[in-house]
Amino acid sequence: MKRLLFLLPLLVAVPAWALDVAATTSSMGMLARAVGGSQVRVTELAPPDRDAHLLQAKPSMLRTLRDAQLVVAVGAELEIGWLPAALGGAANAAILPGRPGYFEAAAQVPLLDAGQAADRAQGDVHPAGNPHVNLDPGRMAIVARALAERLARLDAANAAGYRERAQAFAAAVEARSSGWRRQAGGSGGALLYHKDAAYLLHYLSLPLHGTLEPVPGVAPTASHLEALAGRLKGKPGVIVHTPWQPPAGAEKLASLIGWKVAVLPLDPPAGSDAAGYFALIDRWVEALATK
Ligand SMILES: [Zn+2]
Repeated sequence: MKRLLFLLPLLVAVPAWALDVAATTSSMGMLARAVGGSQVRVTELAPPDRDAHLLQAKPSMLRTLRDAQLVVAVGAELEIGWLPAALGGAANAAILPGRPGYFEAAAQVPLLDAGQAADRAQGDVHPAGNPHVNLDPGRMAIVARALAERLARLDAANAAGYRERAQAFAAAVEARSSGWRRQAGGSGGALLYHKDAAYLLHYLSLPLHGTLEPVPGVAPTASHLEALAGRLKGKPGVIVHTPWQPPAGAEKLASLIGWKVAVLPLDPPAGSDAAGYFALIDRWVEALATK
């Protein structure tokens, strides 16, 4: 008995999972959980009710990154304001960009607006292309398969499980896609505050009528709103913005052109699994289905 008590702390210290994963957003956390299953412990760095462009590196992020074997980021410079600083402070060489422990979703799929003459001097926050791939279920299925391969590389013993779960995620997307497209089909499309749901509109074959921002990252101006109103009056559509984007521009434009305004988050609740992500897409499809 004495010997057993002596062994107990050693037994408790062995983790039940193979990899510690730091996900930048709750969408990336969802995907890591969906593909990693019980082999990963996922910690999300950014809360879903905050603008992921504008976060700052915090001590809690550094602690999470110090212990992580894998970072799952959205990428394409979405997290450029805080992730490089947090990675620098964490002093964990295994998860730096270019290493197997660093994974970007946006690097796994073709990006919208890539290769355009984006001008950072004009305030454009996305010169590398649109990073907001997380609201595109089809691209997320591709990212899931790529993530499974990365997890398999870091933890070969559980490779088959990672691949099976990525396949199950892709199949779940496929099973829902025709229903989403049917529900939204023929709708008027949307005007967004920022091009953060452009991929979902593309996925649903709905028109994106523009953004309240004249350039990504730049607040709406009166002259831009007037130009939008002149162009969109008489057309069908809906204005969608997130809870953290200022509502004034959307309300002003809605009053000018008579469109409804919907307020929706870009990411599922913290700690979500695939069902939470699909419920978020359901909400967006419902808001976009304006007939
Ligand atoms: Zn953005």
